[in-house]
Amino acid sequence: MGHAILIGAITIYPFTFTMHLTLILAAFGLQGSFLSPGFLFLLFILMMPISLYAQFRVSSAYNKNAQIPSRGGITGREAAAAVMAHAGITDVEITSIPGHLNDHYDPINKRLVLSEEDYNGTSLAALGVAAHEAGHAIQHKVGYSLLHARMALVPATNFVSRVVPMLFFASFFLTRGLSGGMLDIAILCYAVLTVFQLVTLPVEFDASRRAKIQLVELGILDRDEMTGVNQTLDAAALTYVAAFVSSLLYLLYLISQRRNNN
Ligand SMILES: [Zn+2]
Repeated sequence: MGHAILIGAITIYPFTFTMHLTLILAAFGLQGSFLSPGFLFLLFILMMPISLYAQFRVSSAYNKNAQIPSRGGITGREAAAAVMAHAGITDVEITSIPGHLNDHYDPINKRLVLSEEDYNGTSLAALGVAAHEAGHAIQHKVGYSLLHARMALVPATNFVSRVVPMLFFASFFLTRGLSGGMLDIAILCYAVLTVFQLVTLPVEFDASRRAKIQLVELGILDRDEMTGVNQTLDAAALTYVAAFVSSLLYLLYLISQRRNNN
């Protein structure tokens, strides 16, 4: 087990180090004259392999821990139900959908949706994901403010997500790329996306924190089984960090382009 933790630390370290370095460079660049659109675009491009690596880590951590059955043998559905019952939640329906890693909590319809493999599965990965989604239901129940902030941002984020591809399509036909009013709209869109990704971070970290506590406290998993849960949920958290950093860098790139145009 010590070995597994060490491997985890080794693979996560360069990842977080690169992201910190990227952020420091971006912050430093804001002060100096070398904050050129080209430099920021380079940082943005550098984030792409990091984001892909984060995605790969989630899949590999999930697949590995989906092979490890929990000793207690209860299903993801039962675990989610137990965590919610302990929090006094009685009005959330647990349903299953086909697909892979598409589990989510739907606060509008008060529905906890698990992929079939997590709904019926008894693995460490299934229980980790199910308890994480139940963590979102607890956030909703206790009125966790950042969950409500995230929910409030969903309509604007959905709208902006439809505008951004149109902007890119339009810029393809413009010789100078985005400029003037269209650049301003792009900046506004990316500001919304970046704020959304930023608010998502504490919401996701908090749901995983609640899940880890409940799995042990309710006796669903033994303490030594938590390594598998931690690997799965921590890998998922990194993808949200990568999404935020990418979005922020692209926003800074657009702002620097606007400054250069003036
Ligand atoms: Zn989540």
